[in-house]
Amino acid sequence: MVLRERVADHIYVFRSGMYAQVNAGLITTEEGCVLIDTLPYPQETQQIIQFVKQRLRSHVRYLILTHAHADHVYGAYLFPEAEVISHLLAREHLIKQTRPALMEARQRNTALAEVTLQLPTMLTEKEASIRIGGFTLVLRHAPGHSPDLITVYIKEEKVLYAADAVMPVPYFANGGIDDLRRSLHGVLELTPLEDVIQGHGEVLLRGEVKSVLQAQLTYLGRVEAHAQAVLAAGEGKEALDALTLEACGYPATLMGGLAVQLHRANLYALYGQARRRQQQARAAA
Ligand SMILES: [Zn+2]
Repeated sequence: MVLRERVADHIYVFRSGMYAQVNAGLITTEEGCVLIDTLPYPQETQQIIQFVKQRLRSHVRYLILTHAHADHVYGAYLFPEAEVISHLLAREHLIKQTRPALMEARQRNTALAEVTLQLPTMLTEKEASIRIGGFTLVLRHAPGHSPDLITVYIKEEKVLYAADAVMPVPYFANGGIDDLRRSLHGVLELTPLEDVIQGHGEVLLRGEVKSVLQAQLTYLGRVEAHAQAVLAAGEGKEALDALTLEACGYPATLMGGLAVQLHRANLYALYGQARRRQQQARAAA
């Protein structure tokens, strides 16, 4: 069951009940709707379509894909009439990685049997804006979770759709920790700002945005220090697991338990990168 939440007068969030509490955002205007990301399973994205058609008597004019990860883009094919927008790098990732992975997923999972990949036709790089029905949407590159990620700032509503740049637990194993730090600082510096919609899980309200983001930056420092300490001590990868998610201040139940895996992937990615740097330095010496 998809959960629908009204975040502002013209903004709704739809949250997946089937996978990792993925969010999709809907901006309603008199000139049509803008959908930000889709839900993992077609049957869930269909519920958004029903809402737009039957309740709002409207249509989706633009579909913004914040990044190319499967859980956010699989519903895009259900919007053949929408203009699909993404970062330049997302298009590349969709073709080279998301598409072959989808072909495999379709074999394994009958709920995905009909999914095809809808490629973006409008591409952004550093920053772009869209004007629609009196609203200004600012699309900004915010890498770190993935290299291709863009956030969407809905100026008139003072709401940021941060996508996976902000998650219940930061996740950068497919991106880079330094980029993610910069992107989180970018969110902290954004004004005026009321709510932040994360790519997964609950919407962050004005009073909690700062403390949640500060905690995320602290988390990044802790996992980085731990991975470096394990490497410096000459210990094997297993020693990474000594730093649990709970020890970093996050409950293990976050995102239905998925957060524990993301945390582990973060540590292993950092360790791998640090070890490669160490080997390169030795080879150069
Ligand atoms: Zn993602």
